Amino acid sequence: MDEKCIFCQIIAGKIKANMIYQDKSMTVFEDIRPVAPIHYLIVPNQHITSMNEITEENSGTLTAMLITARNIAKDKGISDEGYRLMINTGENGRQTVFHLHLHLIGGKKLLGRMAVNG
Ligand code: AMP
Ligand code: ZN
Repeated sequence: MDEKCIFCQIIAGKIKANMIYQDKSMTVFEDIRPVAPIHYLIVPNQHITSMNEITEENSGTLTAMLITARNIAKDKGISDEGYRLMINTGENGRQTVFHLHLHLIGGKKLLGRMAVNG
């Protein structure tokens, strides 16, 4: 655990978040500034800074996060209408929290193109 990391503190229960799911490898909670009716963050329990730190050894966690996103989308009833999964990386990717997270966004029809200018 990185004491200075806000997501590590949420995972440890030291900072409150609206929890959706937790198991031994990941935690899922609501994004505090949702951009759609469903906006969850799927976060590895291990402090991995970004996609740049994914290796052959820890890539299983990433696969598990994708499967969990798929399962939660199904549980919340948005599978058929669709959703977006997103991982922002580094400065140009507009990553603001440096603990790897997968955004699960859905519940409305999203813009047809990614915002590339804003
Ligand atoms: P990113 O810009 O991809 O790094 O996304 C970070 C996300 O974390 C943003 O969508 C924020 O709204 C969200 N966020 C930041 N702090 C919190 C928090 N304490 N609880 C829940 N979500 C948070
Ligand atoms: Zn962390």
